Amino acid sequence: MSKNNYDEKCRLLIIGDSFVGKTSFLSRYARGTFNLTYLATAGFEFFTKEDEIDNKNVRIELWDSSGYEKFHSLTASSFSNAEGIMVMFDVTNPTSFENVRNWTESIKTHLSSGINNIPVIIIGNKIDIVEREVKTEEAKKYCNDLGFKYYETSAKTGENVNDTIKSLVREVLKKKIRKNKKEVNVMEIPKPQDSKKEGNCCCIIL
Ligand code: GDP
Ligand code: MG
Repeated sequence: MSKNNYDEKCRLLIIGDSFVGKTSFLSRYARGTFNLTYLATAGFEFFTKEDEIDNKNVRIELWDSSGYEKFHSLTASSFSNAEGIMVMFDVTNPTSFENVRNWTESIKTHLSSGINNIPVIIIGNKIDIVEREVKTEEAKKYCNDLGFKYYETSAKTGENVNDTIKSLVREVLKKKIRKNKKEVNVMEIPKPQDSKKEGNCCCIIL
């Protein structure tokens, strides 16, 4: 895959409590590495990766929200240009799980385009740890009730990391294609008052 040659672009944002593994998860996907030390950083940072998804080269931008890890610190600009959002919690930390509702409420409050216009998924991370506190079935039901798809991952072992991101990218691309089709349809049907008939030529005034 050549470096600047991609068919689609996709910008994803990850949010969730501090220490749940957001940076490790993005680093695992984008760089294939895992670091056991806490990667504290301030502000928004992003990783990029080009990946092949359904025979398309996709340039994926992954925005990490270190420094904005309290749901009340989010603002409308935190979500600017995000095309897909991941809300992460740690399956060994019940408080981070309970906060998922606050994070999704925060998205609803600040996302100007509306939460239904953007794919949002919930991720339970650190499933490699045996002593987990949040069970899969419980999390699945909870997320289903909130209206979001649920995925489980381990940034440490890499389990399900690629598949989770790829599923979200697919959702984003599907939405984009639908939106583009709508725009094409609007262009194809001129309004009668915008059309002028001159000889054999039909002129559409845009
Ligand atoms: P963030 O604050 O949400 O960005 O979390 P970090 O990515 O900095 O991770 C916090 C801590 O959890 C670090 O010590 C990581 O090494 C550890 N960690 C992250 N993901 C996993 C995981 O999947 N399994 C395990 N066992 N530890 C993890
Ligand atoms: Mg971080």
